[in-house]
Amino acid sequence: MRHSTFFVKSYGCQMNIYDSEKITTILENRGFKQNNNLESADLVVFNTCNIRNKAAHKLYSDIGRVNKHKKKRTIAVVGCVAQAENEEMFKKNKSIDIILGPQSYHLLPQMIDDLKQKPKQLNTEFIVNEKFDYLSEQKRQQGVSSYLTIQEGCDKFCSFCVVPYTRGPEYSRTLTSLINEVNFLTENGAKEIVLLGQNVNAYSASHNGRKISISDLIEEIAKNENVKRIRYTTSHPINMSDNLIKLHSTNDKLMPFLHLPVQSGSSNILKKMNRKYDVDFYRKIIEKLKAINPKIEISSDFIIGYPGETEADFKKTLDLVNEIKFTQSYSFIYSARPGTKSSFEEDKTPLSIKKERLLVLQEKLRSIQFEFNSTFCGKNVDVLVENQSTSNPEYFFGRTPFMQSVYIKSQNINLGEVKNVNISTCNHKNLYANC
Ligand code: SF4
Repeated sequence: MRHSTFFVKSYGCQMNIYDSEKITTILENRGFKQNNNLESADLVVFNTCNIRNKAAHKLYSDIGRVNKHKKKRTIAVVGCVAQAENEEMFKKNKSIDIILGPQSYHLLPQMIDDLKQKPKQLNTEFIVNEKFDYLSEQKRQQGVSSYLTIQEGCDKFCSFCVVPYTRGPEYSRTLTSLINEVNFLTENGAKEIVLLGQNVNAYSASHNGRKISISDLIEEIAKNENVKRIRYTTSHPINMSDNLIKLHSTNDKLMPFLHLPVQSGSSNILKKMNRKYDVDFYRKIIEKLKAINPKIEISSDFIIGYPGETEADFKKTLDLVNEIKFTQSYSFIYSARPGTKSSFEEDKTPLSIKKERLLVLQEKLRSIQFEFNSTFCGKNVDVLVENQSTSNPEYFFGRTPFMQSVYIKSQNINLGEVKNVNISTCNHKNLYANC
């Protein structure tokens, strides 16, 4: 079959979107052309993610939709659902040609070629070092704010999560390849580098015989004078080292904002989740961060209705939210992922109760976020200008040091500039300014 054009669909988390960009680069470097029209593409790549509920269901319904168009094409399923379901997928849907795990997608072009010899191609091995070596050569221009995967995989085995099974053990990229990529990104307009990893602060590499942690890496990246801002996500509380905490007061380029998932305010539930910390441990990290930099703001993730969560457990989550005052957060109702430890636990709480709890929590989080945003009204704040509206070029989008989205009306602003703007109004999601 001829494979001149391709379409990539991403399903989920930031890592998945970043991977899709890398897949696009790999295919373009092999002479394929991106086609934004799924119906006419010769190759359709579904880059799946298992973080959201019903990921596999959505995938199969999308494949069904593609197959309604009679065109003969190749279908590749890559990412975490491919890893989890493996060759079962070939049985479930006969039109799938390639199944490829997230640690081997650098092999995609070769597998496309190999279809001529063998009509079904499968690779779900964990060959992360090979993948990172290959991807280091496949740099892709991004934007003012650019992502950089520094680490993949997870050794923590939280009882609700599939990542250790789909992405394999923790693996970190070399300092040299990361610095090279940062140089490439800044030469192409990046001003902010967002370090990515499933356990980003577990980053650990060796360089000239020296052990390098995420704080060493951040200091190295900060030496690039074109880098104005550095962020990192997603962190695990047990990997918040004192050095990393201290860096939030000593390195101006490291933003005073941290996404640090707590998942629950109940130590009892945290234990069941196998999170490896209790609420006091989490609280102490926040205290240390605030002590060295009182300006720092925290965002978090919450799972509501984990098996066995009582009303008292939920109340503890609300208490923690009231105490820490997370300025942004993601919250979901627990849903079992096949094969995880928690999927075997008895879950007696009715969905209606879980929905009620989620609503109460989200209302609380929203009001704290609105309160925080309101403190900026009438004040000036530095915004890194990331985008310009294509439909109305007078409007720009940027972010404050605390990750708030700012919409700016201006005729006097440049992309990539850190602009000090006066905030006129806000809602819980956004700030607005004229300048
Ligand atoms: S730390 Fe827990 S939630 Fe995060 S990727 Fe690892 S197992 Fe999943």
